[in-house]
Amino acid sequence: MNQADVLIVGAGLSGLAAAQIMSQRGLKMMVIDKGRSVGGRLATRRIGQGVADHGAQFFTVRSAIFQGHVNQWQENGLVYVWSKGFSDGQRAPQEYDGHARYATRGGMNMLAKHIQTELGERIDLRLNTRLTQLEAEEHGWLAQDEQGQSYTARAVLLTAPVPQSLNILGAMVEQLAPDDRASLQRIAYSPCVCGLFGVEGEVMLPDPGALQRPQEAISWIADNQRKGISPNARVMTLHASPAFSQQLYDIPEHEALTTLQDALRPYLGAGARITQAELKKWRYAQPTVLHPQRYLLASQLPPLAFAGDAFGEARVEGAFLSGLEAGEALLNHV
Ligand SMILES: Cc1cc2nc3c(=O)[nH]c(=O)nc-3n(C[C@H](O)[C@H](O)[C@H](O)COP(=O)(O)OP(=O)(O)OC[C@H]3O[C@@H](n4cnc5c(N)ncnc54)[C@H](O)[C@@H]3O)c2cc1C
Repeated sequence: MNQADVLIVGAGLSGLAAAQIMSQRGLKMMVIDKGRSVGGRLATRRIGQGVADHGAQFFTVRSAIFQGHVNQWQENGLVYVWSKGFSDGQRAPQEYDGHARYATRGGMNMLAKHIQTELGERIDLRLNTRLTQLEAEEHGWLAQDEQGQSYTARAVLLTAPVPQSLNILGAMVEQLAPDDRASLQRIAYSPCVCGLFGVEGEVMLPDPGALQRPQEAISWIADNQRKGISPNARVMTLHASPAFSQQLYDIPEHEALTTLQDALRPYLGAGARITQAELKKWRYAQPTVLHPQRYLLASQLPPLAFAGDAFGEARVEGAFLSGLEAGEALLNHV
């Protein structure tokens, strides 16, 4: 039996931020993630000799708390200001809209890896472990993963996209207070279908090497080499908009990839050619219906909280702040 004071499900940014806050109190912490590495939607992939971000592309800062962390990361050389705006293809980048767009050296996933390194031995991290069940017990929670391994904890923090967290709870969802249940079931996400393309030759994009066009079917095109994370090869990231992603999501993958590839062609320079193509589909890419508070602490049950980017703000900063606040709140209950 695996025992912890607190079990955090999800080693994305919100789960890692919560682990940072809670591990400072000397609690026995276990963090479980189904992925091969930490980071969740802070996702970076190798493509041949190149590297590409295929989840979050950059982040902005709006709060003093997050700015404090970002300043430290910037001093360490972990993050840098990529740009202060992106062209939509018609206009030049809006340089002075007030928000720096930060990127992470080596790709967005390195931010999560950095926090993992800082946490070190203070957490018991279990990767490649998908939690499938959670049941309330007299003194806390009993969880089970898909291999049938059991875990007990006094408190649980669920940071997966909320439909996935509710799946883990299964029949226990009925034991949530009706208001809590309704709040959680209201939360919704849009999908994103993403294409990654290795290119030999030039790609014609305005500075700083990306186009952001929320109104278009292909809402984002970025050159990871010009972004600075892929020095050895050019790899392009294309995102379909939420509406277009819905259309592409269930068609055969090679067709979706061809559609995205065709959208890239007009930007290829003379003689440039696509050498590699990969597809990534995010079912829960970005929250569209959010919970207004930064976390939800379930009433009438042993300590159980829900956190992530659907709580407060649908972006990297929101995930981080949600994790911090949920961690602090749970500390009062352990
Ligand atoms: C395509 C795309 C583009 C984006 N672009 C931007 C952007 O440019 N700027 C920005 O600010 N934000 C962007 N975002 C959003 C940003 O990535 C998220 O807000 C943030 O990373 C969410 O972090 P999180 O910890 O809340 O969730 P996640 O990162 O999703 O972490 C949840 C973790 O839970 C794990 N998990 C799920 N189910 C289980 C289970 N049963 N058992 C164990 N583990 C489980 C998952 O593996 C995952 O690691 C983008 C997202 C996507 C997908």
